[in-house]
Amino acid sequence: MLRATAGRAMRMRKFVDLHTHSLASDGSLPPADLVRYADAADLAAVALTDHDTFSGLAEARKAARDFPDLDFVSGVELSAQPISGTVHLLGLGVDETAPSLLKVAKFLRRAREQRNPRIVEKLQAMGLDIGMDEVFAVASQGQAGEEMVVGRPHIAVALCRKGLVADVSEAFGKYLAKGAAAYVERERPDAASAISAIRAAGGTAIAAHPSQWRCENSAQVERVLRALIADGLQGVEAYHSDHTPSQTRLYLDLARRFDLLVTGGSDFHGDPKPQVRIGRPRVPVAAVGREFLDKLIG
Ligand code: AMP
Ligand code: ZN
Ligand code: FE
Ligand code: FE
Repeated sequence: MLRATAGRAMRMRKFVDLHTHSLASDGSLPPADLVRYADAADLAAVALTDHDTFSGLAEARKAARDFPDLDFVSGVELSAQPISGTVHLLGLGVDETAPSLLKVAKFLRRAREQRNPRIVEKLQAMGLDIGMDEVFAVASQGQAGEEMVVGRPHIAVALCRKGLVADVSEAFGKYLAKGAAAYVERERPDAASAISAIRAAGGTAIAAHPSQWRCENSAQVERVLRALIADGLQGVEAYHSDHTPSQTRLYLDLARRFDLLVTGGSDFHGDPKPQVRIGRPRVPVAAVGREFLDKLIG
């Protein structure tokens, strides 16, 4: 009774998670289950931000209708050419039918198809008994056809299943991480193209996990941020499961100085990143801003 008349203003939930992955890319939960977990974690809003695909959004959005206290944000995570370290961009509140965004996502998926067999060839050359069929067997649990997003986490799980590594972390450390023995680069759009595709789709372009830029000091962080702002960046993911409290403080401070929006999320993947829980770290609605959240929910 109260709920029917209370509406949004009465909601008491205070935290959001604006960065998660499902089986539609390299996470291990079906999109509907991910939404259910987000509700169980008492979140006010959750964004599904699969890599390079929108194929999980419809299921997640539909599932979210069963949870009146949880808002759903349509998102995507796009890799861009590195200015420094790893540059990932989140598109939040995107229209997943926008042609420019579909085009960039498709380009990224095709680039994965070029890269994955080359990684597997390197692993084989090192004497590891692993094939693309085994990698596809992992990825195809939640995906099919043209929309498939096959990534290093799938290769890592395939290596685990064959008993060739103890866990995903060992797979990355020994073989798959940048600089490791079987690492292969993949083609990526430049940041300006990725950002403009997100914005053309009505989305907000956010710099994901700036800690992965691997900057050595705050001046370097500022330099990367300035370059991305020149490319049209609108916000920064200040809260992230990889960030130390002092990193979060630095990103919040820079956001204030550069008049950027603030977001945050767990980067939840399920099994491929077992240490990361949905809704952690805590990202206050107040830090993101109710007005911005309402815009993202649309
Ligand atoms: P890819 O999209 O194929 O380049 O792989 C990137 C994915 O691998 C991201 O989702 C990361 O979360 C994950 N990843 C990167 N480094 C590691 C690591 N050291 N351990 C586990 N997962 C990782
Ligand atoms: Zn991922
Ligand atoms: Fe990322
Ligand atoms: Fe991510």
